[in-house]
Amino acid sequence: ECDEKSFLAPMNAHSHVKKVIGIVSGKGGVGKSSITSLLAVLKQREGHNVAILDGDITGPSIGKTFGVDDTEIYSNGKEIIPAQTAHGMKIMSTNLLLEHPEDPVVWRGPILAGMIKQFWTDVKWGEIDYMFVDMPPGTGDVPLTIFQSLPLDGIVIVTSPQELVSMIVGKAVNMARQMNIPILGIVENMSYVKCPDCGKKIFVFGKSHLEDVIHKYDLNVLGQIPLDSELTKLSDMGMIEEYESDWLTELNTKVREF
Ligand code: ADP
Repeated sequence: ECDEKSFLAPMNAHSHVKKVIGIVSGKGGVGKSSITSLLAVLKQREGHNVAILDGDITGPSIGKTFGVDDTEIYSNGKEIIPAQTAHGMKIMSTNLLLEHPEDPVVWRGPILAGMIKQFWTDVKWGEIDYMFVDMPPGTGDVPLTIFQSLPLDGIVIVTSPQELVSMIVGKAVNMARQMNIPILGIVENMSYVKCPDCGKKIFVFGKSHLEDVIHKYDLNVLGQIPLDSELTKLSDMGMIEEYESDWLTELNTKVREF
């Protein structure tokens, strides 16, 4: 049998990752990094060893969300030591390598894809039960290369209500299926807001098209997530590990099966 994973560069001897899950989206700004972070937080709360490889090289935000963007990354030329969060999660991101985190990443696609590959091979991850990879948005060259160079066990698709009416989700589904990577499910982010007075869900973007899309592509729904200012606030403060909500508890019932 042809084992596709054997074509990949091996990890260093100090690292062993049991499960690798990629988080994808059609375009930027739909909440892919936030969902990546929260999936990791949920697994961490279950008591697993968790890591995040921030592959969203054009807008790396994971470091800030977890409050580790000031970490000085140590490397002896062979191994790179990842940042560690307050709760012990391991994180590696291009942002952590920039002298000024607000600098734009100006490297070309192939260099970026090479760097992500290097995060896989050269970072001293240690023993990891779940690694979540925040993939670059879209289905272009860079995401494709990263798709092909990491041994993904599954992907999660994050969309916004507006994306669900376009062809974007279909493209992401097709990319994963062409590469035989199981799709664990789809998340509709920014789906509604909850009235602070009566708790009623207000679907600000109109009726959701999630049902149509999951039938069309035969997908599993992981959750419909509200716009929540508490999430933005904690992310901005670098404290996403403290986030709690009803919908996160609901999401956890699905994520437990990963
Ligand atoms: P992407 O990774 O898709 O570019 P991000 O996860 O960085 O998107 O989210 C973009 C911005 O929107 C961030 O400031 C984030 O904190 C905020 N955000 C994402 N999802 C939500 C949500 N459900 N409620 C409130 N703010 C959110």
